[in-house]
Formats: sequence, C-alpha cells, structure tokens
Amino acid sequence: MLLNLNGKNALVTGGTRGIGRAIVEALAGAGARVAFTYRSSTAEADALKAELEARGTEVLVFQGDAADAAHAEAAVRGVLEAWGSLDVLVNNAGITRDNLMLRMKEEDWDAVIETNLKSVFNFCKAAYRPMMKQRGGKIINISSVVGVMGNPGQTNYAASKAGIIGFSKSLAKELGSRGVTVNVVAPGYVATDMTAQLPEAAREAMLGAVPLGRPARPDEVAAAVLFLAAPAADYITGHVLHVDGGLAM
Ligand code: NAP
Repeated sequence: MLLNLNGKNALVTGGTRGIGRAIVEALAGAGARVAFTYRSSTAEADALKAELEARGTEVLVFQGDAADAAHAEAAVRGVLEAWGSLDVLVNNAGITRDNLMLRMKEEDWDAVIETNLKSVFNFCKAAYRPMMKQRGGKIINISSVVGVMGNPGQTNYAASKAGIIGFSKSLAKELGSRGVTVNVVAPGYVATDMTAQLPEAAREAMLGAVPLGRPARPDEVAAAVLFLAAPAADYITGHVLHVDGGLAM
C-alpha cells in the first residue's frame, strides 16, 4: 500500500537505458502512468513504450536534450495536458566525459555540467509551479557516489553530481511548505552502458573498495527511487540515499 503509485503520473529523464529504464519499469510496476525522455536511442524508446503498453501502462515519450530548457518545458506541459498532474519527477539523464583535468577540454566540462546539472534545473523549474499549485509532488534527482567522494579523471562529473546535492537540499527547503519533497539517490557502481566504458583496471579498483563486493543492478537503484516516490517516504525530504554497497560511509 505504501509503495503503491496507482493514479500517479511520473516523468523520468533518460528513461531508455540503464538506471533510467529500470526506474521507468519500477514506477510502472507500482501502478503509475509513466512518461520518459531520451535524446537519441529511438529504437530502445519504441521498444520500452511497446513493452509497457502491453502490460497496461499508459506511456508518453518525449525526445530531446535534457539540457534544453524548451524541451523540459514541453515534456512537463505534455504530461500535464495528457494526464492533468505531475506527481513524480525523476531527473536521471546523465553522461560522462572523463579525463584528467590537465587534458579536459572546455567542451567536455560544458557538456557534462549542462547534461547532468542544468537538466535538473530545467526540469525542476518546469515542474516547480505545477507541483506548488498541486500542493504535492516528489522530485528525485540522481547523483552519484562520485559527487560525494570525488574521483580522479571525473572533475566535471563530480562537480555536476555534487551540484545536484546542494541544488536538491536548497529546493527541498523552498518547496517543503507546499508538500513537495526533493530527494537524491546517489548510486555507486552500477552495471550499465555508462560503466561498461570504464577501463578494466578502474572497474576492478572501484569494486575492490565496495564492501558488498559487487556492482549494483539497475533495479536495485530503481527500488530506492520507488521508495522515495511513494507515500512510504512522505516525511523524507532533502535526503541523500546512497545505493552503493557501502562504498561511501
Ligand atoms: P546510461 O546507461 O548511459 O543511460 C543514460 C540515459 O540517459 C539514456 O537513456 C540516455 O538516452 C539518457 N541521456 C543521456 N544524455 C541525455 C540528454 N542530454 N538528454 C536526454 N537524455 C539523455 O547511464 P546510466 O548508467 O543508466 O546512468 C543514469 C544516471 O545514473 C546518470 O545520471 C548517471 O550519472 C547516474 N549514475 C550512474 C552510475 C553507474 O554506475 N552507472 C553510478 C552513479 C550514478 P540516449 O541513449 O537517448 O542518449
């Protein structure tokens, strides 16, 4: 009952692959109508939409760049026009452009900050007024253990993910009196396309420091998001929930 999302409307950015896809499936599994965005993976988007609809879930799909404010506004407006409210917003879209600071190009800095951090601003800004008027809503932003601990070769990524934490705590304080909660999920090492790009040595070093000794499955991150999106977490806001096998403690 406390994890039931029947009648709720959710929007997930970057919902076609990895963690985002698992979040879409978890929210749909709990009974929500689910809208998701993506930038370029159209085949995955079509397949996911068909899969969810076959299970009886109402689905909306918005293609665009999460760093583009007009796209964020259009997606939020699309959900409101189709379903009347936006109850759950999950900011998941993210990328890496790793390099040592010495070799990091300005465009790698900008791309990561815009995709990972500005996108969160864009979607929260678009959802702010509707959620305030509804006097309720759940915003869940996906950060990373790297935003808490730092990681060599990821100054841009760490800055974007640490930025999400400060942003979310501030927004939680702004929106609390309107019944809107804002929380963060900070995954550790999750087996997705993103981590498949890591060199073997970096992967082994990271796993060696994980007390649980294995990477997370995307559905284990999605379970934390579902909890924060559900009535079970009505009295939790401004929290950073680590889903990292004990890596950051
Ligand atoms: P992933 O497998 O690479 O999937 C990323 C998703 O985001 C895809 O659906 C992608 O869609 C979408 N996306 C990327 N750039 C976008 C943009 N500009 N606009 C709209 N959508 C965009 O990544 P993941 O591993 O699932 O990561 C998901 C989130 O968790 C990210 O924020 C990441 O930083 C965070 N995270 C991941 C890990 C990990 O170990 N994997 C750990 C901590 C945090 P397209 O394919 O269409 O571009």
